[in-house]
Amino acid sequence: MRILLVEDDPSLAASAVDGLRAQGFDVDHVGTGAAALEAAAAPDLPDVVLLDLGLPDIDGQEVCRRIRSTSDLPVIVVSARGDEADRVIALELGADDYLTKPYGMRELAARIRAVMRRAAAPAPAAQPAPAAAAAVQEIGRLAIDRRTQRVHVDGEEVSLTAKEFDVLAYLAEDPGAVRRRTEILEHVWDGHWYGATKTVDAHVAAIRKKLGDPAWVEAVRGVGFRLGSP
Ligand code: CA
Repeated sequence: MRILLVEDDPSLAASAVDGLRAQGFDVDHVGTGAAALEAAAAPDLPDVVLLDLGLPDIDGQEVCRRIRSTSDLPVIVVSARGDEADRVIALELGADDYLTKPYGMRELAARIRAVMRRAAAPAPAAQPAPAAAAAVQEIGRLAIDRRTQRVHVDGEEVSLTAKEFDVLAYLAEDPGAVRRRTEILEHVWDGHWYGATKTVDAHVAAIRKKLGDPAWVEAVRGVGFRLGSP
């Protein structure tokens, strides 16, 4: 397994390289965002990118966004800025995980392996040739196509991000049933974003806005959310 370590602090980088090698990983180290983007676009891609947010040239968030715009390369954001806002931003930029400095090498290795397992998991589709129409779920004026990940309201396409789609599709699995924030996190984010339940609220807010009516996703106070039917 090859790790691309993006870290501008030489002593932190040296100890991370040593620690990761001791855990059995191959490690390439770069110290700038530009070098990270170059390595993430090279023909021999790393298996996982460990990305420091505070970089001297390009902000780590921007690096993450650019990597994600061109590939599904797993990205673990590593930052000294441990607040929830940063976690949420990293997640919205498409990072696969988030780790706060200082971290233990064993925790890091476990997170890397978890991210790798998820990246290697086969796509869940593989059903025996379902008719395209069967993949479309209609709930009143809302149509959700899980095969193409498209959503329409009154026949008008609504452009959702991948995670917004996943949240909506999860709520639509059982329209009217209440899902707790932690259930949504676990289902959509693999239960991996400990504590960042505000992320769910942020995504729900975006979904409501894009669907054009807040009643599509009802908040159940103190519990969670359910799909509504305005
Ligand atoms: Ca740094």
